Amino acid sequence: MSNRAYNFNAGPAALPLEVLQKAQEELVDYQGIGMSVMEISHRSKEYEQLNEETQELLSELLNIPSGYKTLFLQGGASTQFAMIPLNFLNAGKVSNYIITGSWGKKALKESKLIGETFVSAQPEKFSHVPDISQLQLQNDSAYLHITSNETIEGIQYQQFPDTGSIPLIADMSSDILCRPIDVSQFAMIYAGAQKNLGPSGVTLVVVREDLLEDIPDHIPTMLRYDTHIKANSLYNTPPVYSVYIVNLVLKWIKEKGGLEQIEKINREKTKLIYDVIDESQGFYIGTVDKKDRSIMNIPFRLKDEHLEKQFLKQSEEDGFVGLKGHRSVGGMRASTYNAVPFESCKALSQFMVEFQKRNG
Ligand SMILES: *Cc1c(COP(=O)(O)O)cnc(C)c1O
Repeated sequence: MSNRAYNFNAGPAALPLEVLQKAQEELVDYQGIGMSVMEISHRSKEYEQLNEETQELLSELLNIPSGYKTLFLQGGASTQFAMIPLNFLNAGKVSNYIITGSWGKKALKESKLIGETFVSAQPEKFSHVPDISQLQLQNDSAYLHITSNETIEGIQYQQFPDTGSIPLIADMSSDILCRPIDVSQFAMIYAGAQKNLGPSGVTLVVVREDLLEDIPDHIPTMLRYDTHIKANSLYNTPPVYSVYIVNLVLKWIKEKGGLEQIEKINREKTKLIYDVIDESQGFYIGTVDKKDRSIMNIPFRLKDEHLEKQFLKQSEEDGFVGLKGHRSVGGMRASTYNAVPFESCKALSQFMVEFQKRNG
């Protein structure tokens, strides 16, 4: 489709064209029932089946071991920032955070409202993942929380800390399903859907069941993981249409060949852009240490601010969307989530080369 933009939005972000077309096709008549999936009960057999199938697809793609539950919740990843300490930070325990950027800070802020916190590691400048091999965790740690990919700063873990018996919890909002992971390393992972999974409105939680044994009685019903597990994510009305789109996105990933294949494509896509940065002799400046560069969000700067404005203006004129860096850090950011086509990245890398030729 020629009128699709080169969409590098950070979130909500690009969805696969095939998914949008399938949704369009099924919009007014879902599977021959004469109604949209938005117009039926979440207790109907059609929705129950969609709910089950979406969980199974996630299990398959992420290779989730037994002993974990998959939930579709609301309130975004930001609600998880509070739900995690509410459920798991019991009296006498300390929640631990590694801070590698803006989202980790927000997660920590919520935990501070609820109980005791400890920052296990935080680099002075957000340009890398701190050394995690020597991490010291106390026995009274309730959990260690990390942000597997910092969306604003473009910093991604390549390896995850070994926390022994202490639960490792990861916010994977901006890199879930971008590569294979070993779920058994984590007690819980979660992700708002609107970057790599689907539209906003649904938040994925994968949680190990033994974590749910000590949830304090006073935690409100909707904010308890065990409520949603018992009800199979159907305690109250779920975000039906968001889950439906997630279902289509998961099928799309499966068709692409699963996460190994997806990672390969993501690496090829981002290499195009990182190569231009690295070969620009300082015209473009990468802000993250090479070893921790993200394959989802590529932040970069230009020599002077004046040129950055020009870059944004001209790229917009050429059909590129969403390249402005987050207001807190400035510069540029290209978000290259799973659904961003190789061709968009190719076009951006060519634009960058041309822009340098004109202005370098
Ligand atoms: C976008 C984002 C969030 C916030 O997600 P909401 O669903 O808007 O609450 C949290 N963490 C990370 C890493 C993100 O990229």
